[in-house]
Amino acid sequence: MPDEKTLSPIATLDETRQFMRRRLHGIVPESDIDAKAQTVQAINQLKREKNAVILGHNYMEPALYSTVTDHVGDSLQLSVIAARTDADIIVFCGVWFMGETAKILNPQKTVLVPSKEAGCSLAEGITADDIRTLKKRFPEAVVVSYVNTYADAKTESDYCCTSGNADKVLSTLIAAGHRRILFLPDRYLAANTAAKMGIPFLPSEAEASAFEAVPGDQPLVIGWHGTCEVHELFTPEQVDAIRSEHPETVILAHPECPPEVMAKVDISGSTKAMVDYIRDVEAPSYTLLTETAMSDNLAVEFPHRNILRLTNLRCKHMNYITLEDTLEGLQKLQYKVELAPEVIEKALLPIQRMIAIR
Ligand code: SF4
Repeated sequence: MPDEKTLSPIATLDETRQFMRRRLHGIVPESDIDAKAQTVQAINQLKREKNAVILGHNYMEPALYSTVTDHVGDSLQLSVIAARTDADIIVFCGVWFMGETAKILNPQKTVLVPSKEAGCSLAEGITADDIRTLKKRFPEAVVVSYVNTYADAKTESDYCCTSGNADKVLSTLIAAGHRRILFLPDRYLAANTAAKMGIPFLPSEAEASAFEAVPGDQPLVIGWHGTCEVHELFTPEQVDAIRSEHPETVILAHPECPPEVMAKVDISGSTKAMVDYIRDVEAPSYTLLTETAMSDNLAVEFPHRNILRLTNLRCKHMNYITLEDTLEGLQKLQYKVELAPEVIEKALLPIQRMIAIR
């Protein structure tokens, strides 16, 4: 019989259904569970036969996240696993740039993303050409790209970072003597990280006089105009409303949210930081300002914690990754992430630097 948290890879259909009913009770309707159990069992069987590993981002829907994944986590955690896996096939249940990162780290492997549609507003918001233009304008700057970028943008970057280690990457660069840091493409993550560290921030489109006003020996973070189409929608008024209705709740927000939101919440952190906080810190209740599937997944993971579901912003890109597409992806070995060798070679170093700074 499967245990409480892990579904045995050789579970029968009935065992799969029972496991899902226990684990997803109150989160996924029973009628959905019964409809999905067969797909879950087929994925787990195929995964074994093809020596595949399934990585699931924290924003996957609960029926997928808790049943067929071998590893779950944020971009940084899953990148580390992708680099080390000895499986023949990596199925990345996340968005396309995540599959690219896995391919760059482990180019000999077949890397699949179950949907071609799974993009990202941040990754789409900057190109390698944009970065080349910025480098001409700020020739003295070191370039830090959020991992939420496509491989071509990474080839023009010196470092990558995630929301989990952005401050550590900035600290490392400042300690190494860098004073102008292009932090791309999420302007809110850049501004929030700079504010947390007490470093001035300017958007790249600011007037020349604003840049001249910051002495050359002082650190300065320079941002781009990208945003996450999910996190940018949270508002300070929403935080006020949550506080007034639930004064006891601890509000945790992802640093891709606007600075006016971050100024009002209790905890700023990556999805991994949210997991760690809810696991380790007792509170009457918790409210997460991030993609909505995360709250459901943590409610499954920590049934003894009271996680309020007060927001409902679903990322349409993450939503493209379904159990059905994951099964089809394994059956047809689609959709393969393919990158030119020279792109892999150039994009590898900034990603390796990101992983080294944890
Ligand atoms: S939640 Fe935002 S950053 Fe994450 S994949 Fe969706 S659009 Fe991109």
